[in-house]
Amino acid sequence: MRTFDTSAGNLRVLVAEDDPVSRHRLHAALSSWGYEVTSVVDGHEALREIARPDAPTLAILDWSMPRIDGLQVCRAVRETAAGQFVYVILLTSHDRDDDVLEGFDAGADDYITKPFDSRQLKARVRSGARIVRLQQQLIAAREQLREKAMHDPLTGLLTRGAFFEICDGEIARAQRKSQSLALIMADLDHFKRINDQYGHLAGDDVLREAAVRLRATFRRGDAVGRYGGEEFVALAPGCLMADAVALAERFRERVSAEPFETSAGRINVTTSVGVAVIPGVDNSWALFKSADEALYRAKAAGRNTVALAA
Ligand SMILES: [Mg+2]
Repeated sequence: MRTFDTSAGNLRVLVAEDDPVSRHRLHAALSSWGYEVTSVVDGHEALREIARPDAPTLAILDWSMPRIDGLQVCRAVRETAAGQFVYVILLTSHDRDDDVLEGFDAGADDYITKPFDSRQLKARVRSGARIVRLQQQLIAAREQLREKAMHDPLTGLLTRGAFFEICDGEIARAQRKSQSLALIMADLDHFKRINDQYGHLAGDDVLREAAVRLRATFRRGDAVGRYGGEEFVALAPGCLMADAVALAERFRERVSAEPFETSAGRINVTTSVGVAVIPGVDNSWALFKSADEALYRAKAAGRNTVALAA
């Protein structure tokens, strides 16, 4: 079974070669095989092309070029994060074993000796393209896994860990820029009773719906997470206490305004909410602690209410 695509379509290839005849031959051959080719005349231009955001993923570099040679380009490319994933073929008339080893030491993936044989070039570029695509698939899969790990499967909200990570970054940023930041912590009232009375599937429906109403309350850029069981959190950068209280109040109202539709019928739900802001506290731990204390006070005050950090 073939699980990878070896077609040339969309693969961008960079050719860096100072000799015009060889450069044109390479450009023409690669284009005729369906690659998207960019040609440059020296190592300096090659580095500039590779540094671009839509950089080519496969580079054919002539070893001997003025200013910066192919070997130096190769070393420089390997030192950058993005450059790790560029497949490099060195083009060389140095075909002694030592030279070839030096090329591999510099980080080249393969080499072709000049004058190049067109069938050999085609085969080597194709094998490079296959590796590039596999690498791209692996990166995409890893990215998907990371995304998945960051989100709670039931509600789709950020997990506690992912939320904390974002929170740390946002607190540091708020302090650096002397901006405000609000943490809102909500806990559905008597959730255990809902589970006991209507069953866990209905309980799950309630959590999912609460997440929908929470997300609808906040702006797109605000982080919204499931802190644990029936506890939710939201982080609103730039919010002063008054704005934060208004948001918390809006969420409380949204929850109590309409019964939740569940597999066990319509259920009335309420929530208690605690609010804490920066300035006032200066680290993640203190911010969570004061939001949690505020939430506790909202519970103690009879639930279905919003309380502020002391
Ligand atoms: Mg040359």
